[in-house]
This record gives sequence, C-alpha cells and structure tokens, in this order.
Amino acid sequence: MMNATRDYQKLAKRIESLATGEWRGELAGLVSGYSFFALRRQVAPDAPTILLTAGMHGDEPAGVEAALHWMEGDDWRSWPVNWLVLPCINPSGWSQDRRTNAEGQDINRHFLDPDECPEAAMVRRVLGHERFLLAMDFHEDSDAAGYYICETKTQPPFLGERIPQALSGIMPVADNARLDGRRARGPGWVLRLGRRSAFERRRQWPLAFHLTACCTDHFLCSETPTHLPLELRVRTHLTVLQEALRFAVKQPPVATPIS
Ligand SMILES: [Zn+2]
Repeated sequence: MMNATRDYQKLAKRIESLATGEWRGELAGLVSGYSFFALRRQVAPDAPTILLTAGMHGDEPAGVEAALHWMEGDDWRSWPVNWLVLPCINPSGWSQDRRTNAEGQDINRHFLDPDECPEAAMVRRVLGHERFLLAMDFHEDSDAAGYYICETKTQPPFLGERIPQALSGIMPVADNARLDGRRARGPGWVLRLGRRSAFERRRQWPLAFHLTACCTDHFLCSETPTHLPLELRVRTHLTVLQEALRFAVKQPPVATPIS
C-alpha cells in the first residue's frame, strides 16, 4: 500500500456510509490487502437485478466515481429493479493509478482461470450463478477522442444505436471505423454477438465473456475518453446507464396516472 496516489480509506468510508442507508454492504473479503466491496439494493425478490461494475483498471477513475455517484444520488429510485454494485474491482490499482493489480495482471484477462488472479476470483465468487437483466461495466480509454460502448447481445434490438442521440449535447461520440480493435457497427458502438463458440477459442477471458456465458444476455462496457474532465466522464457513464435502463426495463420508471 506504499506510494498510493489515491486514498482508498476515504473511498472505503464513502462506501461504508452508503451501506448504513438503503444499500446493503457486503465486505466480500480482502484482495491484495484491500477491502473488496459489494453493495446490494433489493426492492422485490421477483424484480430483475442490474449489475454495475467499475474500477477493473485502476487508471480509469471515472467509472468508480460514477458507480458511487449513482448510489449516493436518487435516480436509481425511479427504477423497479434490484441492484448489485461492485464499485471498485481493483483497489490496489485504483490507489496507485495503475491499470493492473498488485501482481501486474490485467484482471480483465483472467475470468476463465480466476485462480491465477485474486480480483477475478473475488468477482466470480460474489456473482455466483446469479442472473442479471443487464450488466454494465464502467471503463475509460486514454486513446479515444470520444465516447464508445462495447455491447454484447445475441439479437436485436441493440442499445448501441441509441448512443449518439443519448449523448447529444453532452459528450462527443468516437466516430472511428475501428474501436477497441473491432470494426465499429455505428458511431461509438462496437457489437459482439455473444456466441459461446467464439469465446471457447479464447483463453484470456474478460468479464464480458464470463457474464455472457453465465449471468446475463446483455452486457455493456461503457468507455469514456480519459482526456476530458472527470465530472463530464462521470455524467456520461450515468447518462448511458439511464438510457440502458430505459432500454432494458420493461416497466416505465415513473407510474403514469390513468385518466
Ligand atoms: Zn478499462
């Protein structure tokens, strides 16, 4: 825990104070000497659950901030869903503003063989065999000129088509022909069809593969450009989260009076 550039104790205090309110905190254990937090909010046992994850890469702070903002704010109250939030998957990396964990591993390559990587093992343990209506993982990209999203879903409709409109007036959308090493399907949008056969050829599984194989039919990896102000990046992640909820949750967020 030497030479920390960010104060994890402070972050842990914010998380712990959330857990004394309407969110139920689960201290899942320690990874690389740091507390690993999971928070739940249950509205009804039969309501669908949304999974929100952040901080996989320690040098992508807007995701962690966005996850905390979401729980500290009120917008989540509008949605009739349960939540599981892992706000900081890589505490040691976050503390030191470093992509990898304390062992120098990119956690997002270790979800097939988690025994090799304590953070990936912890995430898999917390998730178990739970099913999620939607899973969203907040990331950042230091090379990107604008926002983009990597969507994993087997069939239409797709959220990605809505991104330019949802972020209009808020954040530029990356218009590159290729994003994250794949052909862009549209502005700021990469689509992976989530076929298991395509995963099975690969050994270094990201969280997207594990979740698609076990836990959800719809995975979103939200990527903000690191060079823009933190506040704007946080707002962007949360704007896309709200759009994803409008897309995925069948019930409207606010009950309309019958006239
Ligand atoms: Zn990342």
